[in-house]
Amino acid sequence: MQENEHIGFFDCPLCSQIQDTELALAKVGSDSENTYLPLEIKKLQRFKRNEQDVADSPKVLQCPHCYTFYLYQSSYEYLINGSEVEESLKRLTPTESVEYILPVEYEARIRYFHSYLTDPDERKKSYSLCCMCFHYLYSDQISKIISLLEQQDSTCLHAIVNALYKAPIELLNSNKEPWLPLIRKQILASKGILREKFFHLYTRIKNEQSFTLCYYKKSHIFGKAVKEGNSILMLLEAKLFQGQEFDSMELLFPETYSDEEKKTFTFNQNCLCDCGFMWTIPVKMVVGAKEMTSNLECTLELGIPAPHGGISYEKLKLILKSGYLKPIETKLKSEHFSEALYEIQQKLGSKAYLRICYFCQYSDYHVAGGSLWGSMYCFRNQKQDYLQAITKEEYINVLRNCNARTYETDLCPEFLLREKP
Ligand SMILES: [Zn+2]
Repeated sequence: MQENEHIGFFDCPLCSQIQDTELALAKVGSDSENTYLPLEIKKLQRFKRNEQDVADSPKVLQCPHCYTFYLYQSSYEYLINGSEVEESLKRLTPTESVEYILPVEYEARIRYFHSYLTDPDERKKSYSLCCMCFHYLYSDQISKIISLLEQQDSTCLHAIVNALYKAPIELLNSNKEPWLPLIRKQILASKGILREKFFHLYTRIKNEQSFTLCYYKKSHIFGKAVKEGNSILMLLEAKLFQGQEFDSMELLFPETYSDEEKKTFTFNQNCLCDCGFMWTIPVKMVVGAKEMTSNLECTLELGIPAPHGGISYEKLKLILKSGYLKPIETKLKSEHFSEALYEIQQKLGSKAYLRICYFCQYSDYHVAGGSLWGSMYCFRNQKQDYLQAITKEEYINVLRNCNARTYETDLCPEFLLREKP
């Protein structure tokens, strides 16, 4: 173990020459394009906890001056037209290297970085924030991160969002309730790259409700969206859109953009139109007694504003892909998920079905019909009332007491396959 008195990290002549993360890619036979790790890495020393600790990769390296730890990884890929060697060097925060040091040493390092949290040097402050975020996450002191977020200092926000994004997902998930709303608040309050970073962090935590999508008009824009109850929050080119479904996506804070910035988009009654969306929804398919993961690839095309107030057309196509059956494709003509899913069920026949709300005994549409995606009612809290409602009037009464809405493609533990259509 190391002695306590050493040069502080920020004054270290060696570590200051090494970035937080260094990457290098070398291709045999093409020297001109190769990149290399900084030469200083040769001065780092191999760290071994004991004599048996001699595994080749990943290697833990340590600075001989300030005792900072690094993780070195390399991979070799054999390729006929020139093999590739990829190398990376990552500086470890005190928390990431906690297993290599004594508790007293760990505490000393945390105190050191804590003292730089308000340093005028942006680089020192950012790195210290990163170290402290990891420490707070691991030591279950989420409230400390929350109070840092509340300070609304731009350097501070960038550093925190970067650190949180790099943190293991189990840590982010274990105590997300108090600060998920705070991350959402940051998405709304920030702009540009910072908004994108917070949005990516948000979708990382809300993993199961989030998806990547492609918006297309003249060109393609890749974006992210996240389902929040009965609405979708979408990010395209750092702009936020919100709506229940993709044919009702409205731009949030439109007054903050110039006409030039909004030129990429066409709106009809404030909703995006004259464009297409492509996204994929993972769904569980049951074939015989076997349950398997499959994907619903969705394509939605929205027409131009029409004289009657709506849009000229709305066309949805679904392709069900699984490793088991050949892809099942619907015609690009449905207006709603309900029609397209019905078409898929007809093509699947009686041998297979999808475990999604659309096929559940306790989900149904309003007597007035449904819309594109997400207008189903879920009666799992009124099972008996729903099943016993025979007449239209009885059903309207049940509907009146139901405030749970669901997307056709969602699934909950109370799923029960619908017996009759
Ligand atoms: Zn050093």
